[in-house]
Amino acid sequence: MPVTDNVAWDGRLESFKGRDTPYYVTTAAATAAQCTFCGRPLRPGQLLSLSVDITESTASDGTEYLAFSNYVSHRKCKEPELTVRRAAWRPTALTPLAARVILTQEASGPGSPETIVAALAYTLVPVLTCREAGGELTSVLVSVLLFHGFELAMSPGYSRILAQAPEVEESCAMTITGTGLVTITVGEETFYVEQLNSKNPDDAEWLDAASNGSVLIIAGDNLVITDTRIDLETAARFGTLVIGYAPVRF
Ligand SMILES: [Zn+2]
Repeated sequence: MPVTDNVAWDGRLESFKGRDTPYYVTTAAATAAQCTFCGRPLRPGQLLSLSVDITESTASDGTEYLAFSNYVSHRKCKEPELTVRRAAWRPTALTPLAARVILTQEASGPGSPETIVAALAYTLVPVLTCREAGGELTSVLVSVLLFHGFELAMSPGYSRILAQAPEVEESCAMTITGTGLVTITVGEETFYVEQLNSKNPDDAEWLDAASNGSVLIIAGDNLVITDTRIDLETAARFGTLVIGYAPVRF
């Protein structure tokens, strides 16, 4: 049973994650707060286990997809495990996780004002990858967004992201209706739908920031999005963080 730092994992994981495996293991443990099994907090230095569920599916065009879900537990609660199962291809099995934030872009020079930017952090769980001809695993969400004009972000820092993000292609846009229904479409697909309430001060502030006509989308795999925080560090280190400014249509 391989152990990386204090985290034990199933050796078969390496055949899926290759040389990224130790890093995948430590970041999974670092971003987990509670034991999946007993629900108690995970404390520094405790002996932990990583369990990974992989679901393999083949789409009608023959593309092979692999979805990864991981669970961190105390080692005394559960030994590490790897399960691989085959399932019918069902894109709806993915759950979007998103958080809206307002960022401030520094003034470009003396005398010019700083800019308020409406941003949306977005990911899908579990992480969906597809196997390419060479056997390498590629993130589905990242590939789709790169195709539509997003760029990879190498740094998780907001000031770098604000400065580097390109304008995405016309095929990706956000629509905001008069009643506050926010929709992001990428190509033919709807990626995100949320009903905002303009009487809620946080929602109203975000809608106001978006009314300048563009929204910064920060998306990809391995973004940690909870009620209280957004962590882009892991996504940036794995090269699965993509960014772009999408036009807003009203
Ligand atoms: Zn436990």
